[in-house]
Amino acid sequence: MSKFIITITPPTPNGDLHIGHLAGPFLSADIFTRTQRQKGHDCVLVSYSDDYQSYMLRRGREQGREPALIGEENTRKIKISLQMAGIEIDHWMTSLDNTYFRDAVLELYHHGVNNHNIYQKNVLAPYCRACNTWGYEAFGRGQCSSCGQDSDASQCEECACAPNYLYMKNFKCKLCGGEHEWVEKEHAYLNISKNVRKLRTWLSDSAVRLNSQAFVERELAPTPQDWQITRHGDAGLDIGQPSLGKTHTWFMGMAGYIAATREHFTVNQQTPQLFDAFWRADDTTLVNFLGYDCLYSHGIAYPILLDGGPYGKKNQRLYTNMFLKLNGLNLSTSRNHAIWIRDLVSDYDTDSVRLYMALLAPEEHESDFVETQFVTWHQDFYQEKLEALTVAATHESPAFWLDGMQRNEHKLLCEVYNRWSTVTSADSFSSRNLASLSVELYELAYSRLQAQKPLYYLVALASCISAPITPTLSRQMQKRCGFNEPLILDNLINANFLDYSI
Ligand SMILES: [Zn+2]
Ligand SMILES: [Zn+2]
Repeated sequence: MSKFIITITPPTPNGDLHIGHLAGPFLSADIFTRTQRQKGHDCVLVSYSDDYQSYMLRRGREQGREPALIGEENTRKIKISLQMAGIEIDHWMTSLDNTYFRDAVLELYHHGVNNHNIYQKNVLAPYCRACNTWGYEAFGRGQCSSCGQDSDASQCEECACAPNYLYMKNFKCKLCGGEHEWVEKEHAYLNISKNVRKLRTWLSDSAVRLNSQAFVERELAPTPQDWQITRHGDAGLDIGQPSLGKTHTWFMGMAGYIAATREHFTVNQQTPQLFDAFWRADDTTLVNFLGYDCLYSHGIAYPILLDGGPYGKKNQRLYTNMFLKLNGLNLSTSRNHAIWIRDLVSDYDTDSVRLYMALLAPEEHESDFVETQFVTWHQDFYQEKLEALTVAATHESPAFWLDGMQRNEHKLLCEVYNRWSTVTSADSFSSRNLASLSVELYELAYSRLQAQKPLYYLVALASCISAPITPTLSRQMQKRCGFNEPLILDNLINANFLDYSI
């Protein structure tokens, strides 16, 4: 049995979650966790609200309200949406004014200072006198210093790099469109350049998807810039060093995961020793699910922050995702081109949404949710075919689940076993491929139904394999058809069904 700490990048609580969030890290992390638990591994899945985000400050200013209240209100909505979509997170931490969070940030910060990975220097900072704002992130915009696309000065959504405002063209105040004054201020920096060699070693083991590897390689060559980690007059956490400003939220992500796990085991579970058992053990794998635009912090900064400290992991895996489109266009809540998770799962069966989103998961490439296609699929496949298969399997009820398998189908089972082992492995996990495998098995069973051949074992196998994606549906099928899930899983995990002779 192995241990997994699974994390989801914290969403900014300035609105509810839409289908793009679901198709991204949330559903993948949930399916990953359920899959590892199915295989008997010990897992903890955490996330939290990104309360110290610069955009929360701007939203508060726009609405004339306290950012904390806006955050609270939206966090409530986010939690309900996730619950409605069957996303089961073990602990959702509120980071605002949370001592576990603050302690973890300070611990990583001081570890970085002691390791000479964090240093201080005077650098110009953008200030708008008319608006009395600092243009570090939500309050300044221009052309990304790396790709040239419109971006804030913190994290480019287009190319995922961390733009440097000193080199951004047409960089203006977001509120009034005016020019900034440039004020020399002391800031803390994370030293990226001296860690290039270590990062390269780390990268080949940890960044699973090829586009993530390529991104980090690009950022490290030839000589990467160091990363500004404190800001003046913006959102962030006060670390008691006013001359440096506050640490911004991108710096604090890994501390957030550590703090959420600690709070979970200490407060919710009353088993504080399990925090150490998870975070400090060599047999634990840290698995981060994140949007591609969070790759700079997770792929470059956090490995440096963890290096040589008590939370440094021998085993870490990064799973990035690209963006989901809606009917061919980018999702945008400001242009009202989005579907809220809660609306979709209210109109359709939750598991049907989960399965369809898993099939569409934009893992290495963008994908497109076309509403009319989903409606057709929901009717034809999810409702009609799956019901017909369930009824047919109920009528078969063999003595042993593999009875009915044909002599020439042994090869097929070997192939299913190999594919399932690969797509559920922490080294090559893919919720998209797991969903495809399940649907292929159901489709194969449906062709048996039409040819009036036995199909029980195929439906049984498909329902077990897809249980992490469609937990309620699989449970119902198991009940109606009498599938013995523990037995089938045991046969699958140990591959002993491959010895079954007809
Ligand atoms: Zn860019
Ligand atoms: Zn301004």
